[in-house]
Order: sequence, then C-alpha cells, then structure tokens
Amino acid sequence: MTQYVFVTGGVVSSLGKGIVVASIGRMLKSRGVSVGVMKLDPYLNVDPGTMSPYQHGEVYVTGDGSETDLDLGHYERFIDVELTAASNVTAGQIYSDVISRERNGRYLGGTIQTVPHVTNLIKERIHQLADETGADVVVVEVGGTVGDIEGLPFLEAIRQIRNDVGRDNASYVHLTLLPYLGSTHELKTKPTQHSVQALRGIGIQPDAIICRSDHEVNVGLREKISLYCDVPVEAVIGLETLDSVYAVPLRLEEQGFGDFLAERLGITNSPDLSAWSDMVDKLRDPKRSVRIAIVGKYVELPDAYLSVIEALRHAALAHDCEVKIDWIKAEDIEEEGADHLLNRASGIVVPGGFGERGIEGMIAAAHYARERGVPYLGLCLGMQVMVIEYARFVLGLEDANSSEFDPGSENQVIAYLPGQRELGATGGTMRLGLYPCALKPGSIAARAYDRDLVNERHRHRYELNNDYRDRLEKAGLISSGTAPDGSLVEISEVKDHLFMLGTQFHPEFASRPDRPHPLFREFVGAAVDTLREGAQHTMPLEDSAADDASSPSDVVARLGISR
Ligand code: GLN
Repeated sequence: MTQYVFVTGGVVSSLGKGIVVASIGRMLKSRGVSVGVMKLDPYLNVDPGTMSPYQHGEVYVTGDGSETDLDLGHYERFIDVELTAASNVTAGQIYSDVISRERNGRYLGGTIQTVPHVTNLIKERIHQLADETGADVVVVEVGGTVGDIEGLPFLEAIRQIRNDVGRDNASYVHLTLLPYLGSTHELKTKPTQHSVQALRGIGIQPDAIICRSDHEVNVGLREKISLYCDVPVEAVIGLETLDSVYAVPLRLEEQGFGDFLAERLGITNSPDLSAWSDMVDKLRDPKRSVRIAIVGKYVELPDAYLSVIEALRHAALAHDCEVKIDWIKAEDIEEEGADHLLNRASGIVVPGGFGERGIEGMIAAAHYARERGVPYLGLCLGMQVMVIEYARFVLGLEDANSSEFDPGSENQVIAYLPGQRELGATGGTMRLGLYPCALKPGSIAARAYDRDLVNERHRHRYELNNDYRDRLEKAGLISSGTAPDGSLVEISEVKDHLFMLGTQFHPEFASRPDRPHPLFREFVGAAVDTLREGAQHTMPLEDSAADDASSPSDVVARLGISR
C-alpha cells in the first residue's frame, strides 16, 4: 500500500517548497524506496502553458507533453524520475472536471459541493498517481501558503486522506520562515506558531516543521517551536539558505530528518547519499569558471530559464568547472550592439521564447557567435534565430524570418508547416513532448550523444521550412538531427564551427546533476576549450573564488522560486 508525505507551506511563499519536496524524494529514494511525486497547484488556470513567465517562471515540459509547474523540474532533477501529466494537478483541472461531470449528469441530480465533490476529485488524482506509479511513497506538494482561499479544498482533501489510508501511512511536513530582526539580532518563531495554528484549524497537525531562515536555527528556537506547535524537537528542522540547492537533501539528512520520516513511515533501510554528497563536494570546489551569456527576453527573471541554468551547471560540473552567467537582454543588443555586450562570454545560449520582442537582438547574437567562432547553443527559438541568421547572411536572403515574427516576409525560413495542428487558438496548437530524432553520422550532435536515435521534449509551433533545407545545407548549415522519416529538422549545426548548434527541442529538461545533457556538456566543453586557447573573446582562466560573480549564483544559491 502506498504511503503519503504531504508538504505544506506557511508564513510566506517562495521558501523553496519545491526544493524541499524534491529533497524528501531524494532522501526516500536513497533508502531504496520507490517514490512518486506531485504538485497540487491551487490556481484556476488549467495548466501554466498559457501563463506569462513573469507570473510563473519556466513552463516545465514532461515527456508526455504536459506543460507543468517548474517544481516538476526540481523533482525530476533531484529524484531522477520521469514524470507525467499525473504529477501536476491544478484547481483549474479539478473544477473543469467537476463541472463537466455535472453537465454530463454524472452526479444523478445531487447538489455539487466543495466537500465532498471537489475534494473527492482531488483525492482521486492523488490516488491515481499512486496507482500509475506503483510507488511505495508519494510525496505531495500543496502549492501556495496556508491561509490562501484557493488552497482550502486541497488542504481539506489531504486532511481526509489521513483517515482513508490510516495515520501511519500519511505524514505531514510544514515549511515555514523564521524572520530575522536586525535590531534585536533574533529569529522570530511567532509567524510559524500562527501558521501551524491555521493548519491545525483545518485539522492538520504537522509531524515535522522545517524552518527556512537566513541564520542558524539553534536548539533553543527548535525547543520553543516544539513546545508551541506540538511537534517533537527532533522534528523541528532548521534549513538555512545554502550555497546550492543540491545541498538541501544533505542538510536535512544531517539533522536527522530523513531518519525521522523513515521511522514515521516504518522504513528501515539506511540511506546512501554518498554519490550525491560527492556531487555536491565537486560543485563546491570548481577548478575554473567559464562565462556564458544567456540572450533572452526575460533575463531579469532567471526563473523563466531555470532548467537552462541547471543544465549549464550540470554540464560545467562534468568539466570541473563553474558557470558564470551574463544575463543579456536581447533588446539591449539591438541598441548597444552584440560586440559590446557579448565580448566577455566564452559561450552564448539563446533559449526558448515566444513573440517578436528581442528577436533581432537574438539574431545579432547568433551572427556574432558565427563570425567570431564563439560556441553557441540555440534552444528551440535559439535554433530558429540561428537559421534566420544563416539565411540572411550566408544565403543572402535579407528578409528571411519566421512567419511568427514577420508573416509578410518573402522568405519564411521558419514556418508553420502544412498538415500540422491548426493554428489560431492559444491552447492545443503546439508540438509538445517527446519526439524521436535521428542523428546524422559524423555530426557534432551524433558525436555528443554517441547514439543514432534520441527522444527529446518539444514545446513549439514553428519548424525549419523544408523548402529552404537544401540551400541551407549546401551553404553549410547541416541538418544533423531530423525526424526519423526526414520530414522535420530537429537539430541544425554550422559546419566548420567549433560548436554552433541549435535544437528544435528543449534538451535542458533532460539534464540531471549527475548526468549532464550531452549537447550542453559538449557546448560547455567547447566554451572551456576557447578559454584554454586564450581566444580573444574570452577571459583568461579565472580564479573562481576571486571572481565577482554576478546574478546567476544568487539565483542558484536562493532556495526555490519567485512566487
Ligand atoms: N516561438 C517558437 C515556436 O513556437 C519557439 C518556441 C520555443 O522556443 N519554445 O516555434
């Protein structure tokens, strides 16, 4: 029978609940237990696919093509599981399901209510995940903060599950914040007390409380929280802001939280986090650093590129290296020029995106990378701008563009190909999820993967226009990955360039800390090589400790997400 761990949040949002859930998953898995994991999102959108990155950060795409919350990315990276649509449930999905059941007469004339109809559907989805995965333990994150109106049906549902499955099979973990008062130099527990009171008012008594804080949580504070919140002192865990999110499972384990949870669930195996711990040690002791520019539209909001940052970090680790990110707003390149903004970078990434804004700046970045021989990795939109650049400057098609950005251009080298999904509505028109890609022998892509065929995750509408494929290939833009029947270009790479490659898919979603994605690994490797050669556009080998790390390390040091 499946057991459940429910994780709620209190006091404020953005505490890094997703990282804690991912860490719990890793800690359980390290005890030889199979783990399922899911996020309950109390907002009314059906999925985050149509939400702005400003609202939501990155949309994480699972193998089955679901557009999900970015916390699922943390889960996949930490627990190394392949998730599906079943792992992200929103209030929007639940309510539309209830209403369509009601319209279809499924409730036989009954009055439809939050309890039991909405809560039953939530429970059904939780049990469904348990059935689908057959996991020993399912870890469930409840999005938002205790006290949110939208969250109530979800909290009510997880409260009921304790009775449905038995007390020994359901555990509750509450994550809170201990604010620090500078004037008196103390951490305060009152907001935690209030948040636990609110949770108990709903009928949930937490088994453990994890306290996020920017300062050490000493035993006196833990005793106080234990007393007021009725939780054993060994189950009050301090979680200070750490230098890397990957250190969180180790920090929690160190304080006995893994053992506490294991005992609570009757798991007797001891944990083995040695490989994970080695990985974190290596992360903390880079031999050099490499500077990569990310040229995008939402660079003031790194959460929009979370998986890209992580994939770069994993790739750098494989080269004993630390990555420093220069965040370059594509529109700034349009005004200030690529040379000025990109000359510090040893590699350039143009990540995915939608809409016209900043496109010319991204094309200029691709132009700069091609002309200067700087390693370039284009992710989806980044491949499309690379193709546009090539068509404009190598084929001489001055107005080359994508039909997404200039429907009037004569040369739509990126286009919505006939026979694909109907264009028009905002939902349901994208190529989503895993599609196979055959690799061209001898290409950089084939060498990186060391495979003939791969499956990669997609999220886009437009494709390289096959009408231009021959001309582009003859001019040196190799189609190094295609759909197995050859009908679509999946990877383009520039011939005789150290590394200039774009993918129509999103390799960043498949990267793991201990298994970097091959294309990211080769890209960062190429950037490191340019450092070694001391090429003009690179900085000399940097002493990482002495470097004036800019925003990206702050992003990664910070636990969690900006909501
Ligand atoms: N806007 C482009 C398309 O829809 C690229 C999408 C992306 O980068 N994910 O094809």
